Amino acid sequence: MAFEGLASRLQNVFGKLRGKGKLSEEDVNEALREVRLALLEADVNFKVVKEFVAKVKEQAIGQDVMKSFTPGMVVVDIVNKELTALMGGTQSKLAKANKPPTVIMMVGLQGAGKTTTTGKLAKLLQKQNARPLLVACDVYRPAAIKQLQVLGEQIKAPVFSLGDQVSPVEIARKGMQQAKDNHNDYVIIDTAGRLHVDEELMDELKNIREAVKPDEILLVVDAMTGQDAVNVAESFHKQMELTGVVLTKLDGDTRGGAALSVKAVTGCPIKFAAMGEKVDALEPFFPDRMASRILGMGDMLTLIEKAQSNIDADKAKEMERKLRNAEFTFEDFLEQMDQVKKLGPLDQILEMLPGMNKMKGMKDLKVDDKQMGHIEAIVKSMTVQEKRQPEIINASRRKRIANGSGTSIQEVNRLIKQFDDMRKMMKQFSGMMGPKGPKGPLG
Ligand code: GDP
Repeated sequence: MAFEGLASRLQNVFGKLRGKGKLSEEDVNEALREVRLALLEADVNFKVVKEFVAKVKEQAIGQDVMKSFTPGMVVVDIVNKELTALMGGTQSKLAKANKPPTVIMMVGLQGAGKTTTTGKLAKLLQKQNARPLLVACDVYRPAAIKQLQVLGEQIKAPVFSLGDQVSPVEIARKGMQQAKDNHNDYVIIDTAGRLHVDEELMDELKNIREAVKPDEILLVVDAMTGQDAVNVAESFHKQMELTGVVLTKLDGDTRGGAALSVKAVTGCPIKFAAMGEKVDALEPFFPDRMASRILGMGDMLTLIEKAQSNIDADKAKEMERKLRNAEFTFEDFLEQMDQVKKLGPLDQILEMLPGMNKMKGMKDLKVDDKQMGHIEAIVKSMTVQEKRQPEIINASRRKRIANGSGTSIQEVNRLIKQFDDMRKMMKQFSGMMGPKGPKGPLG
């Protein structure tokens, strides 16, 4: 998980502070010393750290904090606000052209995740009912065009390409024309990267910029590269006047320095965060929610939004009805697993729940997709009747299911037992609830 080291260190510092009824100036100083070290270790730019700590200190040593009943909480609140401010304060939204199409130019070094992010961004826009056209201007990296075409097929978005023998400027220009002809409301241009920032690259990008007059120039940077990402952002910004940054690979064990320094150092806001290789692993970046995650306060808002946009409300209602009436079968179970999977990898979902990373055992919990895959295989190896009436699954059927799913009898037994327990619990629960909700004291 990204920020793991930083998050656990900060939460430790504040855990100690919270426990204190009264804070002395020395307590605050001591805590801030640790915050400073934690931020430096997370690879946050040292100037940024210095200013950050000074701002927090100025507010934390104030009389009001010392006199408050819960001084530790007040200090955490100050840190939360300052962390949020550091990352840009409020969400920085994607620009929208007065007259469509809105043109988004993606730039960045090779391997940062430009092409992948181009596909992800298109998918995100499609979810808002937009019709983006992807334009393949990376004519240098072998297979970059193909990669974009595959992504386009996957998300069912058109990809404009003229192969790799035509100049990127020409491709961009013609791509724009096609978008206008076909009434696409967004054009996302994937450009070439290099291993390092060089003049030739910048010249090419400037020429494309000149030709298409983008509404957004988004720099894609790899969060795993820490301070390098910030340096790259600085040099790109000087030359290209970026409108935003996309941080990728935040699902890896990045220490988080880039996310915390990019805005402060370059003045350029982070607009999106990518947290995985899959095409729906891109989220708008909300500084306040990110600060909450780092401080272990969870991110319920993102979770709720994910649920709203991915979970079918009618299906959820039907599921609830079945749960109440204890009609839940293995078929429903599979269906529910599918719905949960749409929210993203389970460990990322858990991370959004407040206090989850402090719960005993939770930190080491690896809910791996492989395990989910086994459960799915077991259920899929059942006959329709078995799925609906799990009680009929006797020893020989268990053996057959284990063989069919490539798992073991123990695994099959465990799953059936868990399912049984769940059904029993539901029966009790629905007995208590009745069809119209909880029974009052008068029954
Ligand atoms: P480009 O050269 O900038 O176009 O980079 P690509 O889009 O080809 O991405 C380079 C590699 O990074 C690919 O293997 C991607 O799957 C991977 N990648 C991109 N974004 C993410 C991310 O958010 N998380 C992870 N784990 N991998 C990513």
